[in-house]
This record gives sequence, structure tokens and C-alpha cells, in this order.
Amino acid sequence: MTQVIEQATSTAPQSTFTALRCKECGEEYSLGANHVCEDVCFGPLEVVYDYDEIRRRVSRDAIASGPNSIWRYKDFLPVNTDTPIDVGTGMTPLVPANRLARHLGLKRLYIKNDAVNMPTLSFKDRVVSVALTRARELGFSTVSCASTGNLANSTAAIAAHAGLDCCVFIPADLEAGKILGTLIYGPILMAVEGNYDQVNRLCSEVANTHGWGFVNINLRPYYSEGSKTLGFEVAEQLGWQLPDHIVAPLASGSLFGKIYKGFQEFTKVGLVADKAVRFSGAQAEGCSPIAQAFQESRDFISPVKPNTIAKSIAIGNPADGVYALDIARKTQGTIEAVTDAEIVEGMKLLAETEGIFTETAGGTTIAVLKKLVEAGKVDPDETTVAYITGNGLKTQEAVAGYIGEPLTIEAKLDSFERALDRARTLDRLEWQQILV
Ligand SMILES: *Cc1c(COP(=O)(O)O)cnc(C)c1O
Ligand SMILES: [Zn+2]
Repeated sequence: MTQVIEQATSTAPQSTFTALRCKECGEEYSLGANHVCEDVCFGPLEVVYDYDEIRRRVSRDAIASGPNSIWRYKDFLPVNTDTPIDVGTGMTPLVPANRLARHLGLKRLYIKNDAVNMPTLSFKDRVVSVALTRARELGFSTVSCASTGNLANSTAAIAAHAGLDCCVFIPADLEAGKILGTLIYGPILMAVEGNYDQVNRLCSEVANTHGWGFVNINLRPYYSEGSKTLGFEVAEQLGWQLPDHIVAPLASGSLFGKIYKGFQEFTKVGLVADKAVRFSGAQAEGCSPIAQAFQESRDFISPVKPNTIAKSIAIGNPADGVYALDIARKTQGTIEAVTDAEIVEGMKLLAETEGIFTETAGGTTIAVLKKLVEAGKVDPDETTVAYITGNGLKTQEAVAGYIGEPLTIEAKLDSFERALDRARTLDRLEWQQILV
């Protein structure tokens, strides 16, 4: 059904990726803008690689001397071009979180900090850099997406950089920072009166009628591969080793599955030693269809209607939910949900212990990590990585009212001294309350 033709296949270097394959029935499809198994079972398609070819090409040294971005892992990504869209995405800090670890009673805790990913301060810049590079190769001139917020920011920004036309769709009730942080790049922005799942359904229809490249619909097999770099980077930054346990937020479940695929691929080509890594997932109670299925030992997802402050991960009908369930189960991980109040506490805890201001999705991850530690589900000695996927400046309304106010003073020393006394008294009272 695809009309677009792959550009300049004959002059491109030999690819490391060879086909799209149905995750359910194994049927193979050509490397166009296909995303479902239309001929057989309507399962999702995934990119297939030639791992012998990748093994021949890659080494730790070659990767380490590559670009300081996700493109150092280009042999594991589904693009042919030697000039991918590189806006400095990836290679975000892996922070030893010593103060947070001590607070929680852990010994080796790291934060993978995509709150400072480039250019739009969320992990979505990874998937969009890959999707738009592939969109260009497939001949699309207009790109689009159905977004919970961060994806709209990334698609609009990176499309602007690449000179692609852009039209993005969001639920109308998103945070102001996410809307403004999209409009600034000058796309057409459609604010749909409905939740994300309704936006997504509308976009599937538009994709069929307009011939646009929807990064998370008809380009989804390519797009989702970008999340593998969150696995690759952690392995490289740990000194070419895998961690023991990871905790990551779940919306569609795609990111979770691709960190897993990334670890497996690095193992398969011999860049890291094989190791059993536990995968634990985090959701907000107000939208926790995957956590509910996990807790009830179901292997199907019952869709829910989202109602949570964690809007960026509020997908009620998650496309990759069953695969995320499977990974959490087979790695002896777990999937937990936390309340909106716990999410705000998680945001504050990470900020106060590590100096990292994350958005609601990151608050969800930290709150779930805390819950897992309290339930004895994290071994204090294991190397644990918590994935922080977005920036708190974009979801300010979530914490407004919970973090105090500045002390307004006159420009006089005695006014300052009085205020300082007051601040210290308040601080002591607060501590007394905590100790009670
Ligand atoms: C989109 C998003 C996620 C999760 O994405 P999925 O791959 O759909 O599970 C997590 N955190 C943030 C901040 C996001 O924007
Ligand atoms: Zn199939």
C-alpha cells in the first residue's frame, strides 16, 4: 500500500537492517512506511537487522570515537544515510545518585537524565531524530504525530531543523509548557477535544488520507528503534556493562521494550557480557492499564480512561502493553502504579536530593522506585538505573502550590534578617512535623 519509494537505494551503503517483520506471526514486509501486518494478523511490525553484518562493523572503540549523540550507534538504527539529522540528541548524563540512594537505602543507584536531552528536553528527541531521518529517506515532506506533549515538542523542533513541513496533534487539555514548547517552532498544531487515545485514532485516519509521515503511526517501526539508544548509552556509560535492574515509565510500553532490545543487541554482537537485567515499569494510578494487568496476572490489557497529572504517560490503550508485561514477568521485574500525590513527592525528592527537576513522568518513576525499595523489591547492592525521561519546567502546574513561595523582602538588611529567622523557624517546624 505504500506509495513512497526508497531514495537512492543503489548508491547507499549496504544496510544493517533488512526488513520489517510482524511481532506476532513473523510475516515480513518491505522497508517502507508500513507498521501493521496488513496481510495476515494486524500485529505490529518491527525492524529486522543482520547481526552478523553489525558484528563486523562495530567495536567499543569505534563507538566511543563516534559522534557525541545517538548516531554513534547508527549501525543499530534503521537509516541508510551518512548524514542523519543530528541535533545533538542523546549521550545524556548517567548520574551516580548518591544522596537519593542514601535516602532510599540503596548503594548503587544511577539516574539516566533525559530531562536534559537535546533539543527539547525529553527522551522523545531520540525517537524523533530517527523517525525524521527515515522519513526523509522515504521521501516524506510533511511529518506529523499524535502526542501526549513531549512528542509534539520534539517533532516540531526537529522538523524545523530539517526543513520539513509539520502538523502535530495533541489533546486540548495539555500543560501550557507543552503547548508553547510546540508552537514556538511554527508547526500547524491541532488541539483535539478528546484524550490521547481519541487523538491517536483520528491520526490513523489522517495518515491513510494525507500521505504524511506520522512518526508514531506509519513510521512507528523506525521511530521506536530510537529508544534502544537509552539502553546502549547506559551500557556504555557503565563501562560496557549492563545494570542489574532498571526502572522506567510506561505509556505505550514502547520505550520499555526497546531498552530491553538494546541490551539484547549489545549482548548479541559481543559489546557487553550477557547478564540477567530486571525490568520494572512505572505508571500513574490514574492511567495504569499495564500495572493493573500485571497485578492481576492477566496477559491482556483492559483499556482505561486516563485521569492523572502525569499526562505525558497517560495512554489508556497502550499499543505495546502486552510486550511490556511479558518483559517485566520474564526478567523478574514488576510494574507498579503510584498516586498523583506520590508523583509530586517523587518530583520533589529527586529535585531535593539530586538537583534534577523532572516532569510528572519522572516523578512517577522515582515514586515507583521508592515503593519498590519499601516493598523489598530492589536489592540494595544491585546496580539500579532509574530512567528520567522529561523536564520539570514543562509541567510546572503539577508542583505549583506544593513547593512553598519566595520570601518577599525590602531591599534592607534588617528585612532580610527577619525573613531569614522566619524561614529557619518554618524549616524547623516542618522537620518536627516529619519526625512526629
Ligand atoms: C512518551 C513518554 C514516555 C513513555 O513512552 P512510551 O514509549 O510510549 O512508553 C515516558 N516519559 C515521557 C516523559 C514521555 O514523554
Ligand atoms: Zn502478522
